[in-house]
Amino acid sequence: MTQRQCDVLVIGAGLTGLAAARSLARRGYDVLTVDQAPVGHTDGGSHGTCRIFRLGYEDSGYVRLARHARELWSELADETGTRLLHPVPQLTFGPQLTQVRDALVQAGAACESIDGPEVARRFPGVSITGEALVEPDSAVIAADRALAALAALAGEVLTGVPVTGIADDGRRVTVSTGDGGRIDARRVVVCAGPWTGGLLAPAGITVPGTATMEQVSYFLPADPDLPGPAGTEPASTGPDSGWPAMPIVVHYGGRFLYGLPVPGSTRYKAGLHQGGPATDPDRLDHTESSALSLHTEQAVAELLPGLRPRAVAVERCVYDNSPDEDFIIDRIGNVVIGAGTSGHGFKFGPLLGEWLAALAAEGAARPGVAAADFPPRRFALSRLH
Ligand SMILES: Cc1cc2nc3c(=O)[nH]c(=O)nc-3n(C[C@H](O)[C@H](O)[C@H](O)COP(=O)(O)OP(=O)(O)OC[C@H]3O[C@@H](n4cnc5c(N)ncnc54)[C@H](O)[C@@H]3O)c2cc1C
Repeated sequence: MTQRQCDVLVIGAGLTGLAAARSLARRGYDVLTVDQAPVGHTDGGSHGTCRIFRLGYEDSGYVRLARHARELWSELADETGTRLLHPVPQLTFGPQLTQVRDALVQAGAACESIDGPEVARRFPGVSITGEALVEPDSAVIAADRALAALAALAGEVLTGVPVTGIADDGRRVTVSTGDGGRIDARRVVVCAGPWTGGLLAPAGITVPGTATMEQVSYFLPADPDLPGPAGTEPASTGPDSGWPAMPIVVHYGGRFLYGLPVPGSTRYKAGLHQGGPATDPDRLDHTESSALSLHTEQAVAELLPGLRPRAVAVERCVYDNSPDEDFIIDRIGNVVIGAGTSGHGFKFGPLLGEWLAALAAEGAARPGVAAADFPPRRFALSRLH
């Protein structure tokens, strides 16, 4: 990289940066995206085959946003001719069940309360004693395909380009790269995940947050011919042949267990939301945590008897946590920030992209930006200062 110019430079080619670049490219901007590492690399927060799409949040505002995001996922799937969301029913349970149900009902989203015996009848691979909520609109996102679909529409993406400095003179932004090169842009969109705070601090922008090193484990079905949710065929003969016949599960509240079938595989992925320790994003350790493995296997043995309780593989993955778990979507001068996705950002990907593109376009002489395209004020950086 020597000297480059563009309308908008996006820093970070994870889910958030690629979604922003795609939204900018479709608005006609000359957009360039750079990343220090290849798309889908294992030190970022966006790698892996799958993520949960769900409407269920304890806050009806998020339910509405997730619904909006779902429409945008469908548009992206149509545009690229790629299957990105696999509908799979979800069972939600745990201490915040009532708040999730109330929020879904308030937002007019479908859900159904069932008791333990009904759970056993409909979902033989799951064992819950108390009440549970069925969320019929949940899905498994094919995360690797989603990243590839966004990258294909993002304009130019350069990898192996570490950004070392950002200087906004009020008119344009000059960005320095590791090899001594410079990129000159009218606007910069920083989507550097847990590296965002460190990158922006020298420019006088404080983005608070904590990186944590999470772990997911992969399990095999106890019986591959176990019948699926009532009314469906066994997994081995169903339309998604090869999936364990299991719903998505979310134990909502605190350090919760979540689980989902992996698309195109017999594996089931499970992890503990915010279970991992704080970490330095420049020193990520991918070694298996035996404590997290044990905790996950114990939860699986207790709640998911449809799976063999010993994991067959584990993966580590970094979370970019904001102090209040709300996203950080804002603009300071000519620098737009998309960070703090706090372990729940994937489902909102195309919506985050639209918000960031709208913020980057604001004030620029370009058509097509409506007020409704802007992010809610709850995501402003100023709330954290
Ligand atoms: C285990 C796990 C499970 C999850 N499950 C779900 C789920 O089920 N549902 C859901 O909605 N969400 C889920 N998430 C959250 C979701 O995956 C993340 O919120 C999202 O992928 C974050 O994307 P990002 O682009 O903001 O960050 P990242 O993917 O981390 O991307 C940031 C990029 O910036 C680059 N970068 C950083 N600094 C520089 C620099 N100086 N120069 C150049 N490039 C730089 C990095 O290399 C990186 O590629 C999960 C996350 C994890 C880790």
